[in-house]
Amino acid sequence: MKAYKIECKLPQGVTIRFSVLNGWGLFATRAVKKDDIVYTGTFIAVQKEDFPKEIELVVEQNTYYLPSYNHITPFTDGRYAVYTFDSVMNHHCDPSTHDKAHQNDPFKYDVIAARKIEVGEELTCNYNTFKWINENPFDCSCGAPTCCGRVEGYSKLTQQQKDFLRDLMGTSALMRKE
Ligand SMILES: [Zn+2]
Repeated sequence: MKAYKIECKLPQGVTIRFSVLNGWGLFATRAVKKDDIVYTGTFIAVQKEDFPKEIELVVEQNTYYLPSYNHITPFTDGRYAVYTFDSVMNHHCDPSTHDKAHQNDPFKYDVIAARKIEVGEELTCNYNTFKWINENPFDCSCGAPTCCGRVEGYSKLTQQQKDFLRDLMGTSALMRKE
């Protein structure tokens, strides 16, 4: 099956470039204070059945190919959410951002700075907060003191790692249960 194609533009304040974490990554082009909105993202709701194994992401002049399994997350009524340009955002166990539901639009979310973000800093999120169980776990060597070692989903974290994420993300730490 053909890859699922997404065409989009970058919002102000972010760019895509090579990351030491894993291939491509999303980076800040402006400084953001802790708890401020880095950008507002949009996702597309899809049915998981027959979803292609690969996402073809066209951001302005560049094309990126991503495996679907780690880039679609549970949404509502059995559907899944596919992200746009920020599909390239990498996992980190001590992430620089977390997301929060948008006030007026169920298809939008605000990406919030988990701490002060400097120009050029990589924007990361914790993939363990998106899935109760990650059916496609992967190893992590992000170097954070709270590094889980293997990203297997929220239910597999230790209590200490869960408490760390709750403290970091506050009340927006909605662990999406599948
Ligand atoms: Zn890690």
